[in-house]
Amino acid sequence: MRVVFLGAPGVGKGTQADRLAVQYQVAKISTGDLLREAVRNRTALGLAAKSYMDQGSLVPDSVVIGLVREKLADPSCVNGFILDGFPRTVPQAEALGTVLVAKGIALDRVVNFQVSREDVVRRLSGRRSCQKCQATFHVDFAPSKMDGVCDRCGEPLVQRSDDRREAIETRLKVYDEQTAPLVRYYDERRLLFPMDASAGVDAVFQHLSQELAQYRAI
Ligand code: AMP
Repeated sequence: MRVVFLGAPGVGKGTQADRLAVQYQVAKISTGDLLREAVRNRTALGLAAKSYMDQGSLVPDSVVIGLVREKLADPSCVNGFILDGFPRTVPQAEALGTVLVAKGIALDRVVNFQVSREDVVRRLSGRRSCQKCQATFHVDFAPSKMDGVCDRCGEPLVQRSDDRREAIETRLKVYDEQTAPLVRYYDERRLLFPMDASAGVDAVFQHLSQELAQYRAI
């Protein structure tokens, strides 16, 4: 299974990618997670990426393309992979195409998650994450048992700096201008699968699994 998850921030790509990766034993490659890890570890990459991320802007293409190229070479990707949040620009999609051709493989599907703008803002502004184990919650839709405390590891929950309202506006504008053109890009290549992601996590997962079951490794 070699798939790309496309869609605006807050549509639930990460949640679905986590579940699918476990169920089908494929690698999840989330550029957002990789960059946040680099920021936490204060690596040179993290320091360079932080200001872009805090504002809700995109990190330069060359940086994320290098990260993904490295990950795709990892043995954990032999069964397949889910790319979550990459590509986000046409040059990134072209670079991905080149890397896959060089490996003699191709994408099976590009899932385009769709949720109304109102819901996206509600999902992002109420999201809370654990800085230690990366578990995510939502103040209304998936609250932790104890307010502000992670159910999984007991550490405090925080709001991601880019889930603040000003950054959300920037991220949605960046999505419209730079990422939305990928819908057409992949539709023209007959890879696009539109996915209504407005239902609950379980219903969306069931629909997604049905569509992608044909690509699972045997
Ligand atoms: P995400 O967790 O996917 O919402 O990503 C969080 C932030 O990481 C984004 O707002 C960008 O600043 C950065 N980022 C993640 N993926 C990419 C990408 N493919 N290209 C550029 N920047 C990215």
